[in-house]
Amino acid sequence: MNKEICKFDIIIAGAGVGGISAALAAARLQQRVLLIEQADEVGGTGVFSSVSLICEFRDRGGRPINSGIHRELFPAAYTHYSEQVVPTYDEQQLKANYNKLLGAEPLLTIWTGSAVVQADMRDNRIAQLHISGKHSGIVSAPVYLDATADGNLSALAGLSYHLGRESDGKLQSATATFKVSGFDRSLLQQPDIRLWSAIHSLRRELLPFYQELKEAGGTNNPRTGVTCFPYPDGEALLFNSTSVLEVDPTKPETVERGIKEGSKQAEELFAAIRQHPAFQHARLDYIAPKLGIREGRRIVGEYELTAEDCLGTRHFEDMVAACAYSLDIHDPEGGTTRLERIPEPGYYHIPYRSLIPKGAGNLLLSSRCISGTHEAHSSYRIMASVSAIGEAAGTAAALCVFQGLTDVRQVKPAHIRFILQMRGQFVEGSVERVSLPTASSS
Ligand SMILES: Cc1cc2nc3c(=O)[nH]c(=O)nc-3n(C[C@H](O)[C@H](O)[C@H](O)COP(=O)(O)OP(=O)(O)OC[C@H]3O[C@@H](n4cnc5c(N)ncnc54)[C@H](O)[C@@H]3O)c2cc1C
Repeated sequence: MNKEICKFDIIIAGAGVGGISAALAAARLQQRVLLIEQADEVGGTGVFSSVSLICEFRDRGGRPINSGIHRELFPAAYTHYSEQVVPTYDEQQLKANYNKLLGAEPLLTIWTGSAVVQADMRDNRIAQLHISGKHSGIVSAPVYLDATADGNLSALAGLSYHLGRESDGKLQSATATFKVSGFDRSLLQQPDIRLWSAIHSLRRELLPFYQELKEAGGTNNPRTGVTCFPYPDGEALLFNSTSVLEVDPTKPETVERGIKEGSKQAEELFAAIRQHPAFQHARLDYIAPKLGIREGRRIVGEYELTAEDCLGTRHFEDMVAACAYSLDIHDPEGGTTRLERIPEPGYYHIPYRSLIPKGAGNLLLSSRCISGTHEAHSSYRIMASVSAIGEAAGTAAALCVFQGLTDVRQVKPAHIRFILQMRGQFVEGSVERVSLPTASSS
């Protein structure tokens, strides 16, 4: 192992949408950023679990309440939006986009195939991280970001967390998504599957084949319906329709079981839909390489966001991000999904305090692991809000470093909002001008 300590301004663990958005935000503020990803490529759940749908990021008046880096990741969702068309993305396109944006930042170092395996604490601060894998060794920085989705870095740092719903600790179900192409759209009742009306019609057409499979005992999938979304070109479908219970990302053996069970359910469902005349020659292009896990640790932070905050469209003085997506709980016991829309005006604020874990002075939460309840998490876990959370966390971390602050709590939300606003992100509340570092002063 290389014993020399590599030093950076900011170290981010996890390169999903939260970590990538944070890395871009911080590197653009002239910080030397290290982004560490345990997988061989960056992208996380949005690429390797193929989730497809660009979930709601507008208020009821149609105004985007997430923009900024999210807009750079999914530009067509802003420029080509139509209420009739299902807003989806192609995960290969997203991956290419991530790599293009990350590759344009000279101050950003990316280590893939490298996992954070230990965090050394000193006086309630992370002093250094141990990395294993391709870049094994020790790294340190004044500020760290936990973008691991499951709060793995915070757990390594010994911080408190919640897991699962409050009543019994059970987690939302997991899903193995899969891609299908090569079907004959002319044999569908509505061939242009890019449209909401056509996709609803298709789901109804496929349902009897799935029901027959279930009635014959041909699958353990507890779902009652078939859920699929079109790829943007309307030539392929992404099925988000399997359901595996009791998968806990902190217990590798349950994930192993989940991968096997999810793949089995995907193959069973694919065989069933091939009974439909349009799908007789369809191809199962792939089952997503990473099991889609909806929920992991929620780190205890300075403020715990609740369902009442979401459904009460709550505003916070320290808002640094917003979310317009419904509470969306895939029943841990396999029952029907609870989908509850955010009432008028259709969004709520995410406060800076929810990004600050209790018990550490130099760590910020930068993915779906922010501080919130099981119900609130089911809403803000989607990519638009996680991107906004990441962008805010990366901005706050950069401010902390270049203002020479010793604790992330000292960063002013009005300063974070000033920078976010300048860069095209949606903010509400007062902003306070702050001078930014230039390339030459870094
Ligand atoms: C089945 C399913 C369907 C979904 N559908 C949608 C949808 O339609 N639309 C939508 O917007 N959202 C959807 N979501 C939610 C959304 O995709 C995720 O919540 C979001 O992408 C999470 O982003 P993240 O950055 O928090 O985490 P991730 O994208 O999971 O990234 C975390 C990264 O951290 C890495 N990591 C973990 N531990 C370490 C470590 N110790 N060291 C280094 N790296 C580490 C992981 O390998 C991973 O790459 C869905 C989720 C699932 C599971």
